[in-house]
Amino acid sequence: MSDRIPITNESVIEELRRAEVRPSTSRIHVLKYLLAERNHPTIDQIYRDLLEILPGLSRTSVYNTVSTLSHAGLVRPLSLEGSEMRYDAFTEDHGHFKCEACGKIFDIDADISGATAKGLDGFTVNRRDLFLWGLCPDCAKHAKTKQS
Ligand SMILES: [Zn+2]
Ligand SMILES: [Zn+2]
Repeated sequence: MSDRIPITNESVIEELRRAEVRPSTSRIHVLKYLLAERNHPTIDQIYRDLLEILPGLSRTSVYNTVSTLSHAGLVRPLSLEGSEMRYDAFTEDHGHFKCEACGKIFDIDADISGATAKGLDGFTVNRRDLFLWGLCPDCAKHAKTKQS
């Protein structure tokens, strides 16, 4: 997993330009938010958090911005369960751990680049995902103290 580099408006604009996406205000803010927080948010969560800095923002424009960024390959949609979509701006192959108590999704540094499965002869794999579910350290601690 790559080290965190400081995320500035300039670096985000640079990244949008590289992907040939016009750097509009909402695109810059949404991508910057996703890169900085790495919290795998839902559309609603992005909307609520960005409303403070972009008071004119609408849920629809967040939705449209996120789909533009996904089509450009800058953001990866994650569907972990049901119809709930989460978004990730870290697009290299990596795994995810979802805490079933607090709902947080953590990046995990799993080497899944060589993962194969039987019966895939003739198939081309474009992306790999590894999902794990359980309790994060904080929630595991709470569960333990509740028991004793
Ligand atoms: Zn948790
Ligand atoms: Zn991730």
